[in-house]
Order: sequence, then structure tokens, then C-alpha cells
Amino acid sequence: MLPKPPPRESGLGFLLIPPFRVQGTSVAGEQTCVMVPELDICFDMGNCPRASLASKFLAISHGHMDHIGGLAYWCSQRNFQGMGPGTIVCSTAIAPAIETMLKGYRDLEGQKMPYELIALDPEQSIEIKNNTHLRIFDLEHTSPASGYCIVEKRSKLREDLVGLPQEKLRELKDRGEQITRTLEVPLVSYLSDTAPGASMLREDVRKSQIVIAECTFVEPDHGDRARIGKHLHLSHIIEWLPVLQCQKLVLIHLSRRSNIAQARKQLRQAVKPELAEKVEFLMDFRANRARYEQQVAEAEKLEHARAT
Ligand SMILES: [Zn+2]
Ligand SMILES: [Zn+2]
Repeated sequence: MLPKPPPRESGLGFLLIPPFRVQGTSVAGEQTCVMVPELDICFDMGNCPRASLASKFLAISHGHMDHIGGLAYWCSQRNFQGMGPGTIVCSTAIAPAIETMLKGYRDLEGQKMPYELIALDPEQSIEIKNNTHLRIFDLEHTSPASGYCIVEKRSKLREDLVGLPQEKLRELKDRGEQITRTLEVPLVSYLSDTAPGASMLREDVRKSQIVIAECTFVEPDHGDRARIGKHLHLSHIIEWLPVLQCQKLVLIHLSRRSNIAQARKQLRQAVKPELAEKVEFLMDFRANRARYEQQVAEAEKLEHARAT
């Protein structure tokens, strides 16, 4: 099967990391909105790209305008387009302020703007798809902030029962014994604005197939800015990479002045090639376009080989 194409909407970054697409827009201080269509989820709503309307779930990281400015519009547009109420997920720390903001819009518009809001305490989770859960955890930033991890829960036969005949297993089950165990497979983690810290070393984050993380500053002399704004600097990413088990680390939230080519160069100088190759930049349009075209060409070759 050929890979699904990028959204037609202009200005959106796009990466295909099978079986997921990661797409959206993210510039520090301006807007961040990152979607994973296969999981029906969008992280943050700095503006409201058209493609984001399709997400049923919206996980908000924190209340800074570049992450929340498009929230009311998203709720309203989903309703206007007849898509049903969206589900906003956020921490209990910011839920009351979100309710107040949305109430303000309802009063201004004089009409209902349906949405569902789910407020979670740190480490709580909700099911967003069959056996797929969205977990929230704390980040450290200049305002209360949260990260997220999407985990798939797979049911596996208990290790000590592997190899037993079916009838024996049925017998145990009929006796009321738990014959399966739940295996947690972390799929996607999202670390938006944050200072470096414990969240980066969490097991679910380290083991995620895809990690999406902020990297606001790149220039070597911008370390102080990162520290004051409680953001990640490329130097933190370089330290972090060796402990990450992900297939891809997708960097977002670079400041407009940061140079992606420069960032790639610094990465290549600082870490082993196989680690540098794990890193992608959501907003590197040219490199991502070339990467996608190559993925399509490879898929076409495979299809052709299968057909002949
Ligand atoms: Zn931000
Ligand atoms: Zn922020």
C-alpha cells in the first residue's frame, strides 16, 4: 500500500513514521499544533489549521498563547462543520481557566459551543481508542505544563503459562485464574515547553516509538535564554539522545531565528551518526518532502516487485 499523502493545506510540516503520520505547525512563541491522525489526536492548538479539525481528541500542554490561541476556534469550527463536539484533555491545574475562557466566548457569541473537557491529574489516563490510552504527566515550565504519552495495552499470555495446551489454559481460566498479563507499548510521547528534567527519563517516554519534543534554542550562546524561559536547548537534546529508545525524535518549537541546517550540523558533530539520524525537524519542509518522496518511491518499487 502506498503511504498516505501529506495534508494539502500549505504551511504544515509532515513526517511519515509508519504506521503514523506526524503533521502540523510549530514555531516558538507563534503557534504549535501537532497532529497524529492515526491516533485521532492533536497536541496543542496555537492556531487552528484546517487539518486539525478532524482530530477527535485535543491534548493541551499549557496555557501559553502559542499553544492555546486557536482552542475556542477549534471547538466552534468542529461544531460549525457538523463534526460533533471535540474532546479537550488537559491537566486539572489549567482546566478551570480553560472553562472560563470558553465561557467568555460563549457569552460573546451568544450561542452554544459544544465541547467535552476532561481534566486529568498527573499520571492519570483516558482511553482514546480501543486499548490505546493517553497518559498525562507533569513538565516544568514557566506556567503549569503537562506532557503526554500514548500507550497501547496488549494482552499477552502469562509467561509461566506459555506452551501449555489449550484445554489446560481453558481450565485455569474457568477456575477464575488470570491467565494473561497486560503489556504496555508506548507509541507516541509529546513533550512541549519544558525545562530539562525527570520527564525526559520516564520509562514510557524513553521507550516510545516516536518522541515529539520542543527544542526552542539552538545557538550555543542561547543557553541562558533556555534556562530563563524553561525551555530545551539543543545541548539538552544531545545529552538526551543516547537514553532514548525511539525510532524517531521529532523536534518542534524552534524559534523563528533558529537555523535548522545549523542544528543538524551541531547534532552530527556531537552524537554518533545513528543517533543523529533519529532526529527529524517537523518544520524542515524541504528535507521532509525529499524524505517522503523517497518513502513513496520505495513503496512503489515494492508494489511493483510484488506485482511482477
Ligand atoms: Zn511555546
Ligand atoms: Zn510556553
